[in-house]
Amino acid sequence: LFELPWGFVKGVVGLEHLPPADIPEIAFAGRSNVGKSSLINALVRQKGLARTSNTPGRTQELNIFAPDAGERVPLCIVDMPGYGFAKAPKEKVEAWTDLIKDYLRGRPTLKRVFVLIDSRHGIKAIDKELMRMLDTSAVSYQVVLTKADKINPFKLEALTETTLGELRTHPAAFPYVLATSAEKGQGMAELKATIAGLI
Ligand code: GDP
Repeated sequence: LFELPWGFVKGVVGLEHLPPADIPEIAFAGRSNVGKSSLINALVRQKGLARTSNTPGRTQELNIFAPDAGERVPLCIVDMPGYGFAKAPKEKVEAWTDLIKDYLRGRPTLKRVFVLIDSRHGIKAIDKELMRMLDTSAVSYQVVLTKADKINPFKLEALTETTLGELRTHPAAFPYVLATSAEKGQGMAELKATIAGLI
């Protein structure tokens, strides 16, 4: 699956523009700068596919990626717009929330959302808000720590424990914490295997 050449399908600002819900889908979510583009690019082994969401002014779109494999594509990846800009205007936060709520409620093919958390920061209040939206929509989700190469193994272990404790309070969260590094490749094989197991 991840050996296939992947391509950008489209960016959508509303549910009506999504491709038909007829193939399994997974989504990636996280605060801006969490390392979401880097992780998606590492997953599909293409440096420029997902672009950094690091621009507060950028349109909030769901970006869809799929293998360029003709009509029978086994999976598509949805890159959810980053959240948590310090200075995000209220309307923008509301637009983000509406889009994500619509998406989570209206996508029966959505197998799992990977909620990315920066290993240096852990789960923040804003991440919990997203997790509550996922709990409410009863969408299965899983926390993936990013940039694991940036902290030492002891801190990573402690973070994994506190994160697990938090996950226990969220009914739709998968009770498991996967530590990854897009830069060093840590956890990538396990992430791929997890995704392959969902389709
Ligand atoms: P996005 O805004 O969530 O898409 O984040 P990006 O993928 O653009 O990454 C934000 C910053 O974190 C960039 O400077 C990346 O080079 C850096 N980064 C992302 N993943 C890793 C990683 O696994 N290890 C390290 N050390 N840095 C990373």
